[in-house]
Amino acid sequence: THLNTYESVTPDPDVDVIIIGAGISGSAAAKALHDQGASVLVVEANDRIGGRTWTEQEGAPGGPIDYGGMFIGETHTHLIELGTSLGLEMTPSGKPGDDTYIVAGNVLRAPDDQLDPNLPFVPEFLSSLKALDELADSVGWDQPWASPNAAALDSKTVATWLAETIESEEVRRLHTVIVNTLLGADPYEVSLLYWAYYVSECEGIQSLMGTRDGAQWAWWFGGAAQVSWRIADAIGRDKFLLEWPVDRIEHDESGVTLFSGQRSLRARHIVIAMSPLAANQIRFEPALPTSRAQLQARAPMGRYYKVQARYPSSFWVEQGYSGALLDTEDVGVFLLDGTKPTDTLATLIGFIGGSNYDRWAAHTPQERERAFLDLLVKAFGPQAADPSYFHETDWTQQEWAKGGPVTYMPPGVLANFGAALRDPVGKVHFAGTEASFQWSGYMEGGVRAGQKAAAAIAEELERTANKGALV
Ligand SMILES: Cc1cc2nc3c(=O)[nH]c(=O)nc-3n(C[C@H](O)[C@H](O)[C@H](O)COP(=O)(O)OP(=O)(O)OC[C@H]3O[C@@H](n4cnc5c(N)ncnc54)[C@H](O)[C@@H]3O)c2cc1C
Repeated sequence: THLNTYESVTPDPDVDVIIIGAGISGSAAAKALHDQGASVLVVEANDRIGGRTWTEQEGAPGGPIDYGGMFIGETHTHLIELGTSLGLEMTPSGKPGDDTYIVAGNVLRAPDDQLDPNLPFVPEFLSSLKALDELADSVGWDQPWASPNAAALDSKTVATWLAETIESEEVRRLHTVIVNTLLGADPYEVSLLYWAYYVSECEGIQSLMGTRDGAQWAWWFGGAAQVSWRIADAIGRDKFLLEWPVDRIEHDESGVTLFSGQRSLRARHIVIAMSPLAANQIRFEPALPTSRAQLQARAPMGRYYKVQARYPSSFWVEQGYSGALLDTEDVGVFLLDGTKPTDTLATLIGFIGGSNYDRWAAHTPQERERAFLDLLVKAFGPQAADPSYFHETDWTQQEWAKGGPVTYMPPGVLANFGAALRDPVGKVHFAGTEASFQWSGYMEGGVRAGQKAAAAIAEELERTANKGALV
């Protein structure tokens, strides 16, 4: 026999679809495809399921702990429906009491989420948030690269915009810490177009920064990674191959072959369910189109610590403070209460990103713990000095995530290559939270992008099956 055509030497696909990445997006894609009768496999580089959601149920005293994504937003409808369908239950995250700001040496309280409007910088802070929302509306989330001023906005950084539009140093510092903690990057690193798009696709800056509503509304009892774990249980843990880092992909119209060292698998379609930065570590044959290749090469991840201190009681709530804190000075942290009703210790969670991450990383773990606790003492009193448990997760050091919490874009990326976030390349589909139209950056975006890729593939599988039947 003559094996003289490529088709004739191509082995039959092992499965209909292989999903690369067992984060929430890949897991949601796998479930959607499995539910529609497709055969699926999920391959995951790490030795655990969950990606940027990472739960230890026995790992810490006081209750399950989330080292990664955790908060569920009020409008995270796809995530809520998926988690609930898997038997998970939610609990509201917000605590009663005043929010706290540390600005220009002062510890300021904000009852009902409102800073005192008589403080000199507050009117400008409020008007600047409104201006940001207006800019976000003008860019939109659907096709930000096609918005009227896309090229001009993508040639500027957020820092330029802050310098041009904001007088007060305090207000610029507040915006800086907001960008640090939401994107893990500094305003001077982030394209203004990207920031406006991000604010738009997450329903506005108030929604992003809400300390008891908006994006920070609720949690799953037991931890966020359970969404992916339960999907694996439902469709079969044997369908999830761990410690299977894909390093090479060969693709053509007949299917896709994946390689991990000497191992290989073949599928009709694949879903790349990870950030552009993670996908950039995979070699493609033939090479990806320029727009996708450029996107992957030029869209980094933020730099990020998640820090958690646990105490015998929520002494801050007893004193009338919600635990929410925005510190523009010592550490540059966004802090939230993380205590669930079933926990036996109370938790404060801090997020540190961008140049604050860089400053923080230059210290020893002991110095970092001291500095963090000093800040909590300044905000909530001496009881904060002595936690029962302290933990920091350095996401920048995570081998497969390579950063956190999300992807950001410097100037010149979104306007030129943004469409490649979502467009498939032949049999290669892209999911991961970055591919979502809305709530990109969040677990919700991961679920939406995974389900969308799954729907597109299911349609294609059905079309080819029907074509086969007709022949
Ligand atoms: C500290 C932190 C706090 C956050 N807080 C929140 C929050 O409160 N609420 C919220 O909604 N979101 C939050 N997020 C963001 C949220 O966690 C992510 O948006 C979401 O989990 C992304 O899911 P994903 O499946 O798209 O990507 P990932 O979870 O990154 O999944 C990608 C998977 O691909 C794997 N992978 C990478 N390379 C390869 C390869 N070559 N071969 C095979 N597998 C590979 C990775 O190991 C990973 O498992 C937070 C993130 C962090 C880091």
